[in-house]
Amino acid sequence: MTPIINKEEIIKIGNRFGFEIVKICSPKQFTDYEKIVKERIRAGLYPEELISYEEILKDVETYANPYNSLPDAKSIICMAFCYYTMEQTDLTKPGEPHGVLARAYQRDVYGEKHRREKQYAELLHKKGIKVAKRNLIPRKMAAIRAGIGWQGKNSLIITEEFGSWIALSNLIVNIELEPDNPLSKDCGSCQSCIRACPTSAIQAPGVINVNKCIDYLTCKTGVIPQKLRDKMGNRLVSCDCCQEACPYNKAVKFIKKDIPSIDPVYRHSPALLPLLSITEDDFRKYYLDCEFLDPRSESLQRNVIIALGNIGDPIAIPILQKCLKSTKSILREHAKWALEYIFNFKTN
Ligand code: SF4
Repeated sequence: MTPIINKEEIIKIGNRFGFEIVKICSPKQFTDYEKIVKERIRAGLYPEELISYEEILKDVETYANPYNSLPDAKSIICMAFCYYTMEQTDLTKPGEPHGVLARAYQRDVYGEKHRREKQYAELLHKKGIKVAKRNLIPRKMAAIRAGIGWQGKNSLIITEEFGSWIALSNLIVNIELEPDNPLSKDCGSCQSCIRACPTSAIQAPGVINVNKCIDYLTCKTGVIPQKLRDKMGNRLVSCDCCQEACPYNKAVKFIKKDIPSIDPVYRHSPALLPLLSITEDDFRKYYLDCEFLDPRSESLQRNVIIALGNIGDPIAIPILQKCLKSTKSILREHAKWALEYIFNFKTN
């Protein structure tokens, strides 16, 4: 027998687990999803090295249809919580270069999202509601359908309450709940995020050229194209430029306090020099639990070297010269670029 539980109760439970916004949409197929992804692959907007196109297309078919996740799905519960914090994002000062992490990585936002989502699903399950084990759907499209927000020109979901400083979640369930309506709102004539993007990666409203997006550049492996290196500034993990520029985000005052910090040593803006010479002991002490900030990873070391070049502080010269002798060609190549960049700083 299907349990009797009303929408209000569902929302209250979601709020209790820390999701400030809880809305409902139908699980009908997201028919535009496949078309949009195929068009973007054809236009060369996805990097080939990220994942094979065949794999993307296989995933797209699965994601477009929520019934693949739960054959007797009746509703999708869409949730969002705000992760905005007020921590100073760049602690760089003369003689002490620091890196910058996007706000979503300054705290354990994604770990927290999974914990809350799991607790919510477990409680619904206890009440006799079937919840899909894996909620494979196009998250942003579901959020738009449920009226959580609209898609901004930077492709992110913009909410009226928290701008785009939100983590999106969803649960596919087998109970009928009254769906919400999409918002009748959009960005209007605003172009702030398009102008703010350092690499001009926002090709058209809502369309990102991932190859140029700093979010992708910081996590990709291998060489960063020369013409994009100075655009990365001292960003180590992802980028918030388009979000910082958005008027809806500037208006957010909310300070979230209950997302676990990952910061025993200013990891929301880590000191750069120690990251290039970390010992195994220090790694275990400070970084073991933090997969996106693993100083042993070649990509992170490369980002640190680029950041040191872009900051241009001569204090980095000795460690960059050491990197010229690295056994890793990626580090040698970027260190050579960074040193030239610093010398240009000094002579210009
Ligand atoms: Fe939309 Fe302006 Fe925000 Fe970009 S900056 S997402 S155009 S409101």
